[in-house]
Amino acid sequence: MSFRNSSAPSQHPLIGVDVGGTTLKFGLVSPDCQILHQFAIPTEAERGADAVLARIAEGINRLIDEQNGLIAAVGLGVPGVINQRGEISYPPNFPGWGVVPVAERLRPLLKQPLPIAVENDANVAAFAEAQAPGATDRDFLFITLGTGVGGCIISNGSIWRGATGGAGEIGHLSVVMNGHLCNCGARGCVEAYLGQRYMTALAAAQLPRFPESLLHAMLAEGNALEPKLINAAAEAGDRFAADFLEEMGEILGAALASALNLLDLHLVIVGGGIAQAERHLLEPARRSLRARLIQSISHDIQLRPARFQNNAGIIGAAMLATTAGAA
Ligand SMILES: [Zn+2]
Repeated sequence: MSFRNSSAPSQHPLIGVDVGGTTLKFGLVSPDCQILHQFAIPTEAERGADAVLARIAEGINRLIDEQNGLIAAVGLGVPGVINQRGEISYPPNFPGWGVVPVAERLRPLLKQPLPIAVENDANVAAFAEAQAPGATDRDFLFITLGTGVGGCIISNGSIWRGATGGAGEIGHLSVVMNGHLCNCGARGCVEAYLGQRYMTALAAAQLPRFPESLLHAMLAEGNALEPKLINAAAEAGDRFAADFLEEMGEILGAALASALNLLDLHLVIVGGGIAQAERHLLEPARRSLRARLIQSISHDIQLRPARFQNNAGIIGAAMLATTAGAA
């Protein structure tokens, strides 16, 4: 059910929290999806679960104070799998967390009782695409290209969670049999090619063979080698960078074709740091995807960048909060 048609408990603003491994982003969001105010503080993940939860509560309490307590609900997007009991299990970027019931542990730290929704961060970003006012797409695959490669299946406007809440991990679809080793322990995963760290390492390994590449000068100017810089070089006409991204796009398209063929989905929405690399990454991905689709679903396939970029985590979390508030 869409929250827009549900009986929200109030017209008070919502709080959306984007819990990242290095930064906690807080936003005060109006019921019609506008960010009214936002700020960020360091996560300090190395200090452990209690310290991170205290910092999350600190940020939420700051917004509660600023609003004189007039808040409808809180939503959090967290980088890990959330099970049916609302627990996050062994989030990879949060050392020593184990299994943590986030909402239950957060509740006593807040200045006032509020409904709390907790969801995986890729699911949160996908939810923003599915449920923002004006959104019309009800069935799609969402993929986010960042430090890791996350994903979410949206079915009839809702997050499809699978048996234990872990569905949508498109980053760990296998694209190269016995390929590069992935952080998850398997070989040849999409993430082992398109995850930021892996993509950067692959480019760094190949770059010395291309002394004419513009990237050498860009790195000498103090830029860090990362997917965005590779795209900037490709946009400036660099052959190596363009060929490299085209290969990444082909791998991405192959993974997406497997997913679309399996799920009979016709739309892919791409979020994350390099989702705007239209010419050098998304277009090759589109070609690769179309070439691999079975005929019955190949006629109306779309692949497009996400509508919400940097603020997807805050907006999606706030919209999830509304569902918690209406529950
Ligand atoms: Zn993997």
